[in-house]
Amino acid sequence: MLLSDKIKNTIRNIQDYPKPGITFKDITPVLADAGLVREMMQQLIKDYKGQKIDAIASTEARGFIFGSVLAYELGCPFVPVRKTGKLPYQTLSRTYNLEYGTATIEMHTDAIKPGWRVLVHDDLLATGGTAVATAELIQEAGGIVAGFSFIINLSFLPGEKNLEDHFGVKPHYLA
Ligand code: 5GP
Repeated sequence: MLLSDKIKNTIRNIQDYPKPGITFKDITPVLADAGLVREMMQQLIKDYKGQKIDAIASTEARGFIFGSVLAYELGCPFVPVRKTGKLPYQTLSRTYNLEYGTATIEMHTDAIKPGWRVLVHDDLLATGGTAVATAELIQEAGGIVAGFSFIINLSFLPGEKNLEDHFGVKPHYLA
């Protein structure tokens, strides 16, 4: 079976979470399948090994799971992008629109050196708002957005197009 089908078949759909009308993709059954996680990580490493990536930036909290392992495997720094008020040092911040309301994410001012090529990784691409805000933080710090990596793309939403329009980079996803 294709890796993308294995991932799709393992993800659990939770109806009306976190709000009525939303179907949430729960990745915890994927995390519970060690063989599948290994296969996913090996694919990600194959896809990015040899590319010039100086750091991986991931958004709290599910982005940390695979993003930190990928950074370890590629031998590059991991940059945590967190919800407002969680990082202890000076931060850059971005506020972006959610379906209802807004969210603010932050990154340490010294997390990225000017000129670094930084890969954005998160578990899931929906509208693309989180990834756009993360990429803007990287640019504000003087970094270059090397690409976008996700486990899952919700293809019925405009995230993929949003990222291509904003950054001219086609996002990469496993399923
Ligand atoms: P976006 O900003 O692209 O609309 O939403 C993606 C962000 O929200 C990611 O950080 C992701 O973790 C989270 N997210 C939104 N919907 C889901 C979902 O159905 N499942 C999971 N696992 N994360 C989601």
